[in-house]
Amino acid sequence: MSHSDITAIRGLHYLSGEPVTVTMTSGKISGIHKEEGPQAGDENLPWLAPGFVDLQINGFRGLDFNTIPIAKGTAKSVTSALFEEGVTSYYPTVITNGDDAIEQALRSIAGECREDAATAAGVAGIHLEGPFISPEDGPRGAHGRSFTKAPDWELFLRWQEAAEGRIKLITLSPEWPGTAGFVARCVEHGVQVSIGHTSATDEQIMEAAAAGARLSTHLGNGAHLMLPRHPNYIWAQLAQEELWTCVIGDGFHLPDSVLKVVRRVKGKRAILVSDAVAFSGLAPGTYESHIGGRVVLTPEGKLHLEQSPGILAGSAQMLQSGISHLVYKGIASLSEACDMASVHPAAFMGLPAAAGLAIGAPADLVAFEWTGSRLKLMQTYKHGNRVYTRAGTDC
Ligand SMILES: [Zn+2]
Repeated sequence: MSHSDITAIRGLHYLSGEPVTVTMTSGKISGIHKEEGPQAGDENLPWLAPGFVDLQINGFRGLDFNTIPIAKGTAKSVTSALFEEGVTSYYPTVITNGDDAIEQALRSIAGECREDAATAAGVAGIHLEGPFISPEDGPRGAHGRSFTKAPDWELFLRWQEAAEGRIKLITLSPEWPGTAGFVARCVEHGVQVSIGHTSATDEQIMEAAAAGARLSTHLGNGAHLMLPRHPNYIWAQLAQEELWTCVIGDGFHLPDSVLKVVRRVKGKRAILVSDAVAFSGLAPGTYESHIGGRVVLTPEGKLHLEQSPGILAGSAQMLQSGISHLVYKGIASLSEACDMASVHPAAFMGLPAAAGLAIGAPADLVAFEWTGSRLKLMQTYKHGNRVYTRAGTDC
């Protein structure tokens, strides 16, 4: 092994807060060495944590996984742009659309992964969100009503073939008859099933969980504005212990009370997602949206309809904003919030990155400073290679 295969970085381990030197060899973490006593410059050390894993990314910086045809190179460009956000693995998310449009989107993402190893390393799988979701206004969110339908296994197989087997996660609503059988088949084929965009009853949710559904997609969003106080599908999913829970932690999509309850109830099964749309990562301003109408991205990172500032037009904040929000508001500690954006989603999907910042884990990690209110990313490593360095932070 040549010396150039070994990379090392010093920083504070995000779990212990202790100064460590992490060495990376052949794409894996090969050593984590504690320092003997204080060293010069310790006060300026960055935090070191596992790279972020995002289960739901619809697009980034103007690139979109749902505008058909998908521009060539979209997955490759998004993969490398996400390194600047500390995201080292993610699931491009294809949402409800016509059958052929979904097929085309899947084919094009899969094709890029086949042709480019770096893209394949970043894209851990594809998340198919829809079209087997609720047709009702509210739960359906911005998904096109005319395309919603009952789960169809033959159709799913056609899509999985176009995706070259890369669909690893599907979001559906168990309110459709036949859902339990569909869920069981997905699980048999190694596809995780998540409940989302749903108006299902408690019984339907329990039945889906019994058949193998194990996650809730952005719980509390993609829901009716008004619900009976109880029972309702939010309580039912919170109470269902087998279900892990994804939440959008940007501070705009859910009140802090809900984020706090999800963290407390779900613990190691609580996951942060960005659900970022193509406007994420762009400068504040007004943009034309393909789902109709103009949208405004505020300097604070809120994305809303131009005509109705009270209505969100998707999420424009990445995982590091969700972590920052949870920590700044005292909802989670820094280490817990980092785990919610890295180890927890990786564990749910069965990725090797679930090992976290530990010897033998993939050398996917981030170095950042914590300002007291915000995580400021400094460096990102993917498979031991430094793939992002913020200007002025080369160390
Ligand atoms: Zn959604």
